[in-house]
Amino acid sequence: MSIVYLVVPCYNEEAVLPETCKQLTEKLRSLITQGSVSPESRILFVDDGSKDHTWKLIEQYHQENTLISGVKLAHNRGHQNALLAGLMAAKEYADCAISLDADLQDDIQVLDEFLEKFRDGCDIVYGVRKNRDTDSAFKRGTAQGFYKFMKVLGVDLVYNHADYRLMSKRALEALAEYRETNLFLRGIVPLIGYRHDYVYYDRQERFAGESKYPLKKMISFALDGVTSFSVKPLKIISNLGIIISILSVFGLLYALISYLTNQAVAGWTAIIASIWLLGGIQLLCIGVVGGYIGKIYNEVKARPRFRIEEFLKK
Ligand code: UDP
Ligand code: MG
Repeated sequence: MSIVYLVVPCYNEEAVLPETCKQLTEKLRSLITQGSVSPESRILFVDDGSKDHTWKLIEQYHQENTLISGVKLAHNRGHQNALLAGLMAAKEYADCAISLDADLQDDIQVLDEFLEKFRDGCDIVYGVRKNRDTDSAFKRGTAQGFYKFMKVLGVDLVYNHADYRLMSKRALEALAEYRETNLFLRGIVPLIGYRHDYVYYDRQERFAGESKYPLKKMISFALDGVTSFSVKPLKIISNLGIIISILSVFGLLYALISYLTNQAVAGWTAIIASIWLLGGIQLLCIGVVGGYIGKIYNEVKARPRFRIEEFLKK
């Protein structure tokens, strides 16, 4: 029987923790009594430097309930880092870890399906939302636009998957090899490879407390996603430079014709032609510099260059 860790990042979640703890404990207990997971399985709450009583509650639950473990981060490091801290802690004890949000927006009834796929040999199971009916039109629109934009930039994301996922021990070990500081887990996990599958679920509304992802954090998270996975924006600058340089030739022709037909003020032709040409050349040069920066950026990341999934040996 496998040891499963449910990893739950919490930031100022005192409003939801009592209910979350109750529901997760019930669920884990029933999984243990069914014999589908080991009694050594745990619920691991990660307190992401909360300012309210979140950690006090976690300490209390840990005292009362053997299934509850807790990790406390010294500072608020954001959802992705808190999640990584929890997963790395779980990796030491668990055969697989499942990450989910503290507000139980991710339906915990599908945990059985995650575990079934894990038993079938999947190393990574992605929880995918069936629809976005519970989101505001704005959140739905921006989120879907983001997935499409990332696809254009060549980043491999699982559509409508957030951070509800199961990872096996060896997938977690692989994750530990990605040493980047700007974390965008849903971009990194597909890079790990290994056998994976999907579980579909309905996402509920947050039952108490408020979202810890205001618009500002969402935008910076999305930008992180783009700039941590793609150097295409740098290529776009280069291409823009080339296009403007070519256009500047037409600009020059136009300026010359105006000059020859005496429609131009003296000196205008030279100014307009140089503005266009220089603008184009500058962008092109920035693009070339960007090309090198893009290479440095990829080298500095020092991501693993390959991963052996199977090794056949007599
Ligand atoms: N979270 C965190 N650190 C932060 C912000 C959020 O650990 O700085 C946790 C939060 O407690 C929750 C999860 O990340 O468990 C998702 O946050 P939230 O539900 O507020 O986001 P939303 O569902 O609104 O996108
Ligand atoms: Mg939420």
